[in-house]
Amino acid sequence: MPRKIISAEFVVSAVLPRDFPADGRPEVALVGRSNVGKSSLINALVRSAVARTSASPGKTRQVNVYRIAPAGGSPFHVMDLPGYGHAGGGVKAQGEFAALTALYFGTRTTPGRIAPGQITSGVMSGTSRTGNHSRSDLPSPLRAVVLTVDARHPGLASDIEAYRWLHALGVPLLLAATKADKLSQSEKAKLRPACLRAFGEEPLPVSAITGEGLDEFWQALRAWTDVRA
Ligand code: GDP
Repeated sequence: MPRKIISAEFVVSAVLPRDFPADGRPEVALVGRSNVGKSSLINALVRSAVARTSASPGKTRQVNVYRIAPAGGSPFHVMDLPGYGHAGGGVKAQGEFAALTALYFGTRTTPGRIAPGQITSGVMSGTSRTGNHSRSDLPSPLRAVVLTVDARHPGLASDIEAYRWLHALGVPLLLAATKADKLSQSEKAKLRPACLRAFGEEPLPVSAITGEGLDEFWQALRAWTDVRA
């Protein structure tokens, strides 16, 4: 059953770790190649144009943060991480994408371990106002990661590399195959075996155009983010 959204809003384009939400609300991270359809997926999930989509890839170097409040569920953040793998971006841009992504996961998955860059950028320094704990002592808000891959191109080297890296974080991981509406029947039949071969993982085919897979996606979101469940 589709969820009735109470509100979905853009919060911030984070360029430094100090811009990441600090309220402890559950977070779901979206990762994928530039132009894979992450923004369209967010908009389709919340049924409003909260995320900016584009036919020209490769411009986003920020973590775009959205706050979603579903009816009957707990509010949570979607962390739309910088797209990777856009050839036109050049080596420097690729490095910038990877650096911010690594910083994000660094702040969310390694309690007690502080990378030098995080100290200088101020994320982990200081103590909380309510006690003597640094932020790194608090439970991580990161509940799950969604790796989005283009359903027409399962198993690209950059996606496999991203999958391995993300899998090693030990956080629940969903493989979403975007633009499923573009598949022919025969391509559709090949998607699952191709993903199992490349990632060892079942894909969830989704489409921002037809709505395919969005109910299942919402079920996963709810299971990950409901704090009262
Ligand atoms: P992002 O860079 O990952 O945020 O990708 P966008 O959401 O901006 O989408 C990139 C392009 O793919 C745009 O031209 C979208 O219209 C198109 N697109 C995204 N999702 C779908 C989908 O489910 N089906 C189809 N047919 N096109 C899509």
